[in-house]
Amino acid sequence: MPTPLDIPGLDVAKAKRYSRTRLAVLLAGTGWSVARSAWFAGGGRSARLRRAVEEVAPERRLAAPAYVAAAAGFSWVSGLPLSYLGGHRVERRFGLTKQSDRGWLGDQLKGLGLGLVLQVPLTTAAFAVIRRRPRDWWALLAGGTVVLGVVASNLAPVLILPLFNRFEPLPDRAVADRIRALGERAGVPIADVFRMDMSRQTEKPNAFFTGLGNTKRIVLSDTLLDRFTPEEVDGVVAHELGHQVHGDIWRLIGFGGALGTAAAYAAYRLAPPLVRRSAARTGVLTLGDEASLPLLGLVLAAIGFVTAPMQAAFGRAIERRTDRFALELTRDGAAYAATMERLAAQSLADPDPPAPVVFFLYGHPPIAERIAAARAFAAAHAAPGA
Ligand SMILES: [Zn+2]
Repeated sequence: MPTPLDIPGLDVAKAKRYSRTRLAVLLAGTGWSVARSAWFAGGGRSARLRRAVEEVAPERRLAAPAYVAAAAGFSWVSGLPLSYLGGHRVERRFGLTKQSDRGWLGDQLKGLGLGLVLQVPLTTAAFAVIRRRPRDWWALLAGGTVVLGVVASNLAPVLILPLFNRFEPLPDRAVADRIRALGERAGVPIADVFRMDMSRQTEKPNAFFTGLGNTKRIVLSDTLLDRFTPEEVDGVVAHELGHQVHGDIWRLIGFGGALGTAAAYAAYRLAPPLVRRSAARTGVLTLGDEASLPLLGLVLAAIGFVTAPMQAAFGRAIERRTDRFALELTRDGAAYAATMERLAAQSLADPDPPAPVVFFLYGHPPIAERIAAARAFAAAHAAPGA
């Protein structure tokens, strides 16, 4: 039996280089954004921006959202060079995208526009809640976030994703029939299946289950449909069916809600004293002032550092179970291993990343582990004499 590291078509040395580069970019980006928030909060810069906005628009109704928009714009602009070099250029260098600079920038601008449309009213409203409910804002905001998460999960596939990509019902009848057959074997009415032109942004194959209620669907990227064999596509679809059957979107919303409530409570305990203690330097007296945004951002980043491993571990547990479901459904460990190998080769996946990286960042088990599980299933279910 081959060792799990023996993955056909994957240049392991290159994959390791890619994964180290991405990690370096992530660390640099985190350091940069912490430094930027500290710089913006310190020396009274955030408070000065708030006052400058108030001079133009004295009414709080206008000044508050204008300040939030200005702060978001500043953070977008200051992060752009690193996202270009560390994101787009790195993907190009490793042959993982064919997107032009222009296309990339277009996506970034759309992202900024969407971010402003969603972020400005929500952040402004959150600060109004913090001012009016000084004792229980954390619970109200956490609850509101769960409700918004449900609404967003329902609307994202029809309102947000189509802003960046084209979605069409599977044009290939043969593939559609195979998928329907898989759904029948799983005993579930299969959600709609869509093809997405993800090759606009990346060469990596992708598939996901998204939507809630009337919008739930399985999405397969063109990079997957065009390059995977029918058996390999089956493996991917069986996996996504697992997410559908187990109601994993609800699980993620529930877990995210619990973690978010704990995070909001931590922010409630940590942020107000920090704002008070640094008031002399920042010129911001209370957390209810929108100008406390960069300080609040720092507190939330620190909390995120603690919650990220929990979120990753929860994701890995769900994915392990979903892989098992897919194996039981297809009864074909060898084909599922081939699916994972194709996935690894085409997305330049580090087969066995360092344990701390997995601990903090990996919402899926490392690909070598997934391949090993599939090969073990194949070995355990091999027909006698075969
Ligand atoms: Zn999955």
